[in-house]
Amino acid sequence: MTEKLYYHNAYETKFTGCVISCKEAKDGCFHITMDKTLFYPEGGGQPGDKGVLGGVHIFDTHEKDNEIIHYGDGPLEVGTEVNGEVDWQWRFDLMQNHSGEHILSGIICKKYDCDNVGFHMGKDSITIDLNAQIPKEDIFWLEEKANEAIWGNTSLDITYPSKGELEQLEYRSKKELTGEVRIVQAGEYDCCACCGTHVKLAGEIGMIKIIGAQNYKGGTRIELLCGKRALVYLQRVNQAASEVGRRLSVPEDRIDEAVSKIQGERDNLIQEVKKWKWESFLNKIEKLPNHVENVLILEDGLSGKDMTQLADLAAEKNEGRAMVLTPSDRGFAFVLVSRKKDAPAIAEELKKTFDCKGGGKAEAVQGKLEGNQGMIIQFFEEKGFVLAK
Ligand SMILES: [Zn+2]
Repeated sequence: MTEKLYYHNAYETKFTGCVISCKEAKDGCFHITMDKTLFYPEGGGQPGDKGVLGGVHIFDTHEKDNEIIHYGDGPLEVGTEVNGEVDWQWRFDLMQNHSGEHILSGIICKKYDCDNVGFHMGKDSITIDLNAQIPKEDIFWLEEKANEAIWGNTSLDITYPSKGELEQLEYRSKKELTGEVRIVQAGEYDCCACCGTHVKLAGEIGMIKIIGAQNYKGGTRIELLCGKRALVYLQRVNQAASEVGRRLSVPEDRIDEAVSKIQGERDNLIQEVKKWKWESFLNKIEKLPNHVENVLILEDGLSGKDMTQLADLAAEKNEGRAMVLTPSDRGFAFVLVSRKKDAPAIAEELKKTFDCKGGGKAEAVQGKLEGNQGMIIQFFEEKGFVLAK
């Protein structure tokens, strides 16, 4: 059983201990156990510590059967005394975020009479899952209330109450606990059974920022950032908003309005372009001589709907046939409309000459066509089609 030094003092980073075992794992890393350690093992949603042990880089720490296993990239000799040092930057970030999560969860669970049913500390953000629907309009209030604990520098006190005391105590816990229970009390904000590492005073958390809230499995998933992570996030978001504001010549708190305006203008322009496009199509058909029965139209950037409408209009003019082609990723997309009800027959001939896929009915066929543009035009001209200019 490893002596858990991190429970004596979560701020201690250096220690000396004796190597109890060292085994090489299948993946080539080394599983090292010590008589005592300051390395916190992954648990309760908090990732395991990193650091250095006897010169060996420790990249993760886990607990198994009361033994704490340090995952190292090299071996250590069993029976030797080695110095260990926990990566403080990594640990303190986790302490800030874990402690902030306690405060926010405590406030939420009290207000909505719900439970925290999931907690994950990821590389990018922390998520907490709550079995209650949290109204979107409450988010700022919750955030402010959680930050009040920081402004008041509320202390986070660790106690191990007796069985009797525990029965009197109202505390949050994800599971039924047996044996000695470790309670983390954050003033009026939270009381929770937890085995993780926390800051002593809420002021050290710096800031609690909710960055997302969404419906999740009938409840709510909240995404938050604390400490330096919150600061870095706000710096990044502020920088992006300032840049957008500068480009739109509005203050950053009005970029939403400015973007809506641009979207409206863009939608109008799209409509305008569509209108002009159709006018040019009509003009093209209008210019065709009256005796032309079969028309070939080649246009860039047509949608499937555009092609069908255009082919229909062109075929209608002289009750003939119209082939509309538009370049696509490989070759052309086409729609062939025939008032003579022989579209499939023309398509069959196309398939003999070109790599062509498509189908339809007597009045219209659509598909994809691969081949040299000049040869395609020649194919249709030989069939009496006139290329619309
Ligand atoms: Zn905790």
